[in-house]
Amino acid sequence: MSGCGCGCTSNNGGPFSKGKELVEFVFHAHGGTVRDQKIQQGPIETVCQGCQAAFILETYVGVCSQCGGVHAVAPMSPTAEKIQFAGRDYTLPS
Ligand SMILES: [Zn+2]
Repeated sequence: MSGCGCGCTSNNGGPFSKGKELVEFVFHAHGGTVRDQKIQQGPIETVCQGCQAAFILETYVGVCSQCGGVHAVAPMSPTAEKIQFAGRDYTLPS
């Protein structure tokens, strides 16, 4: 039997996605009105998963000021360990 084996079997794009899928889910959530909102629980101090620079995620989708790496967190569970990184070569759709 085949299967990707990474645990991503259930859906494509949702609040429980990982990496780029989560970033794109949050980016497009509610017609794109969520991504620029301040995180309700307050900014999250984190470390860029691309370049390891410390930065603060203030909105549900945020960009590392050092390398431009795109990060996002699901609005229902905005904690540091839930922050997903879209990947080094990813840039947000315009
Ligand atoms: Zn970075």
